[in-house]
Amino acid sequence: MNDIAPHLRIVLVETTHAGNIGAVARAMKNMGLRNLWLVNPRSFPSEEAVARASGALDVLDSAIVVSTLDEALADCALVMGTSARGRKVPWPVMNPREAAPQVLAMAGQGQVALVFGRESNGLSNEELQRCHYHIHIPTNPDYSSLNLAMAVQVISYELRMLTLAQQDAEQAPLLSPDSSGWDVPPATVEQLEGFLQHLEQVLVEVGFHRQDNPRQLMTRLRRLFQRTRLDQMEVNILRGILTAVRGRK
Ligand code: SAH
Repeated sequence: MNDIAPHLRIVLVETTHAGNIGAVARAMKNMGLRNLWLVNPRSFPSEEAVARASGALDVLDSAIVVSTLDEALADCALVMGTSARGRKVPWPVMNPREAAPQVLAMAGQGQVALVFGRESNGLSNEELQRCHYHIHIPTNPDYSSLNLAMAVQVISYELRMLTLAQQDAEQAPLLSPDSSGWDVPPATVEQLEGFLQHLEQVLVEVGFHRQDNPRQLMTRLRRLFQRTRLDQMEVNILRGILTAVRGRK
């Protein structure tokens, strides 16, 4: 799996509380992110940030401080702005889970910026219009604004979940009798048909399947067994059970 961290930056615009910068560094490191850009922070470096970073000092120490948003975005191929509320000019907006595939796809090819606003009034309309897309965490509409570091946490968690899911899919493709690596060959059409006929006979014999009132029973059972992608051993086991049921009478 590709490590997206080198291609992804968290950009904080004019953060007022240094403690939030520390908490963001911690949230980022927890989720495997490293690149923190600070646009015109009120106070940085600061002891408060170090205290709240709780060991994520490498992220704080390597933070890049710039004076304009332009500088933080110049080399980026994709810019995602974040907003707690709708703005005057509607913009393509998605939730963090929807945004994650786009972010990960682009992070394989170029730099991606996730931009977060001021604690007091978020990002300006002009700043938001610099972003290709907006991400909104679907909070309670009557109380929609998260703490800055918590917003970073939620979005970077979604990125991590998708990264891990992709990693799992690469390492352990879902096994089924249809895929290579299964221990027994898949049942053929002929074998499944043989089983279904056998099943029908036994169901008639035990009085469960009444041919004068079939109720689509065999259609439903066919759908069930076709859906499960039986292998040859499983068909043999099922037929063995049917034979044993017959032998009891
Ligand atoms: N009062 C501000 C919110 C500031 S919260 C406003 O109304 O815009 C600080 C930052 O946290 C926001 O700029 C945004 O980057 C992020 N944030 C907070 N809540 C969010 C949410 N529900 N969805 C996306 N980002 C959010």
